Amino acid sequence: MDLTSPSTIKELRDRHNFRLSGSLGQNFIADRNVPERIIEGADIGEEDLVIEIGPGIGALTAAAAEIAARVIAIEIDERLIPVLRETLCSFDNVEVVNRDVLKTDIGEIISGEREKKSFSGAVRIIGNLPYYITTPIIMKLLEDDIDADSITVMTQKEVADRIRSGPGSKTYGAISVAVQYYCDVEKVLSVPKEVFVPRPKVDSTVLTLRPVRGKRLQLADEKTFFSCVRAAFAQRRKTLLNSLSAAGGMGKDEVRRILEKTGIDPGRRAETLSIEEFGLLANEVADGKAETKNERK
Ligand code: SAM
Repeated sequence: MDLTSPSTIKELRDRHNFRLSGSLGQNFIADRNVPERIIEGADIGEEDLVIEIGPGIGALTAAAAEIAARVIAIEIDERLIPVLRETLCSFDNVEVVNRDVLKTDIGEIISGEREKKSFSGAVRIIGNLPYYITTPIIMKLLEDDIDADSITVMTQKEVADRIRSGPGSKTYGAISVAVQYYCDVEKVLSVPKEVFVPRPKVDSTVLTLRPVRGKRLQLADEKTFFSCVRAAFAQRRKTLLNSLSAAGGMGKDEVRRILEKTGIDPGRRAETLSIEEFGLLANEVADGKAETKNERK
């Protein structure tokens, strides 16, 4: 059964009597080359564990199961579970979990599979992500510090552009800094909107994120780093002096003093700062907080 053929998708949909849900981001891949290219980009090997987010009717799942030692696919829509049981019935290395990925402890799934010794290679996370929650899914995987060797995901092109952007670009923002703090980012593939059923309004891009094990920056406090990044980009047209003081917590004089210490011009905007400069800034803010705490004692 070719799970990327529009007629197969239609036949399964009619026979199982369900409608594709726009609100769950159900745009299925309808080009047989795309799953293959995603699997290649994810560098899946025969000893690997694959965790797939949002299998749909199983096109990418089946392509992964052909190669990997074990595949766990997490799908929120219970109507798709009998479909997946049918489309994946020839694989004995696949398990479908009917859950919301945002409420799933993926770390626990991986350690359970390690204990069962169901794989001996790398952990690869893959998915054609539901567009309405792309950023929360990516941030959850990164913030939970999931023990994965790579994360290969298809997202809306605009989101992928933001994730890959560097300083000076219009699309550089909090998500670029956050993802690049955790990972090296590589573009795998552009996917035009014409190869999905139903056709979405926008094109897509597949990215591979490779977690940087030693962490890219020496941070005094990760939380302070992320709150500085968020505050600086919250009003991206403003200077750092204005955006950081507008966020509350620090007055203009304090922000000016901190920026002077780091050598960052208070007249610059967030979109010009490198990740390393955000690190310097966050460490000065954390230092200042620690000093104030000690003075109060
Ligand atoms: N992998 C299939 C493909 O590429 O053809 C389907 C991809 S479709 C863009 C996204 C899938 O994610 C849908 O099957 C949808 O039901 C599922 N999904 C949506 N929200 C989810 C969530 N919170 N947790 C798990 N799966 C979700």
